[in-house]
Amino acid sequence: MTFDHFSDLNPPDIDIEAVTARYEALLGALAEADGAGQIAVVERWDALRRELETWQAHIRLRFYQDTRDAACKAAYERADDLRPRIVNLDVRMKRALLSSPERAAIEARFGGHAFDLWECDVAAFAPEIQEDMVKEARLKAAYTELRASAELTFQGQTHTLAGIARFALDPDPAVRAEAAGVKWGWYAEHGAAFDQIFHDLVQVRHKMAHALGYEDFVGLGYKLMQRVDYDKADVDRFRAQVRDHLVPLVAELRQEQADRLGLNPMCEWDEGLLDAGDPPKPLGDTPFLVEQARDMFKAMGDEPDAFYTEIVAKGLLDLDTRPGKGGGAFCTAFPDQRAPFVFGNFNGTLNDVRTFTHELGHAFQYWTSRDNALTEYLWPTYEACEIHSMGLEFLTLPHIERFFSPEDAERFRRDHLVGALMFIPYGVAVDHFQHLVYESPEATPEERHAMWQQMERTYLPWRRYGDLAWPAKGGLWQQQLHIYGAPFYYIDYTLAQTCALQIFLRASEDWQGAIDDYIALCHRGGEAPFQDLAVSAGLTSPFDPGCLEAVVDALRPLLRAA
Ligand SMILES: [Zn+2]
Repeated sequence: MTFDHFSDLNPPDIDIEAVTARYEALLGALAEADGAGQIAVVERWDALRRELETWQAHIRLRFYQDTRDAACKAAYERADDLRPRIVNLDVRMKRALLSSPERAAIEARFGGHAFDLWECDVAAFAPEIQEDMVKEARLKAAYTELRASAELTFQGQTHTLAGIARFALDPDPAVRAEAAGVKWGWYAEHGAAFDQIFHDLVQVRHKMAHALGYEDFVGLGYKLMQRVDYDKADVDRFRAQVRDHLVPLVAELRQEQADRLGLNPMCEWDEGLLDAGDPPKPLGDTPFLVEQARDMFKAMGDEPDAFYTEIVAKGLLDLDTRPGKGGGAFCTAFPDQRAPFVFGNFNGTLNDVRTFTHELGHAFQYWTSRDNALTEYLWPTYEACEIHSMGLEFLTLPHIERFFSPEDAERFRRDHLVGALMFIPYGVAVDHFQHLVYESPEATPEERHAMWQQMERTYLPWRRYGDLAWPAKGGLWQQQLHIYGAPFYYIDYTLAQTCALQIFLRASEDWQGAIDDYIALCHRGGEAPFQDLAVSAGLTSPFDPGCLEAVVDALRPLLRAA
């Protein structure tokens, strides 16, 4: 039975010994079954995993909804502690399936992609690295805690790092510069601690990679990201496309931006402001956005309409910021309830609209593919996931007047397109940096700062830091959470953005056609790897030579018209 409303959802707590016994029973049954019997075991395993994922997702969400609730926090920490044990049990199942004499029959039922993903999971884990996994998790937590400890005094008030970020959009350049000075002064003060945490992370990741038989962490990092249809040579060629074809265009766009802002030179703290006016402001609060989005989904077709009507009716949105709520925005899901859920921290700015359409893209994909045959196929790998979210951001642009005045809507659309292009060089710089770091684990912190400076010269040549010593010495990357917490994730956003820009181009000629292909892509969920999914949606793989060049050429006239 699935629930009628989120408030009815209350998954029972799990007993890890009982769960372990269920896994042992499944492993025993698998060893004895024939082809049809093994398929039945996989189905039972999948039902168990949906149950466990619902439990985990619910506990994490409840904690994020109120981080001050002691019981929610205790449950969340316990679930975190149990996670490696569950991963271990899943890896045992995957290992058994990979070596099963009935593999052909199982592949015929579920497809081969799951086996490729399991190969990655098995290659990224061994019980002997568990201790180092815990060490890595502690270092990641130390990074989060260090950043959360920031108390920045600015204009007579105390701010967190997230709080001071809003001054980056202040129309007064002196305010922006001063706020940046306070922020980077704090990073400089704690620079040795940031360097030490990262140094320790690089060492422990390298050690785990060695223990699993990899030359360095790059190979293990790719397995952890479940990359089955491209390798680091492909990523390297994509970055070359960015250098050759996009960096020159973004340099032009940055110069136009500097001219519009009347700044010479334009500094890093000015880059967030695309024109001199106040940022576009939504015409109403969150309930207004939620109501306005109804017609937007209705215009896209019956299925988007049914999706949106259902998630609103079932209370699967928690959007407004409030004291005690955990930070950020995400889409999660309760697989055994066939329901996605969107979490946000809306505060009345234009970013609410961006986040709303982004996370609803993830939620819509999940909703359309929620009955796919295996847990693996409910979501795809991350670079494909972000096509759904970034794609919907572009597909909703023609309807953005529902949220903004006509004049602000025009500015929002232009900012969105320009911002998407400007993001990619930074994104690949973050990725390239990580390759350099993990290929030379013996490097000193100073050498890593020099590596980042090299990345800035290559991908962000317009960047100026004025008299801010810490970022000028190559320290900017320390504010990028993914570099500490999610290695090699960042390229996924740039690959997805390259696909989303193609969706935008298609939609500017044939909106309904682009919507139909988008919906078909969402339906596939994670049943295939990234490039297969992209190509099936009529997109060119970003790894194809000439892909980015063609996208840039097609966008130039639209940028001039905007
Ligand atoms: Zn996303």
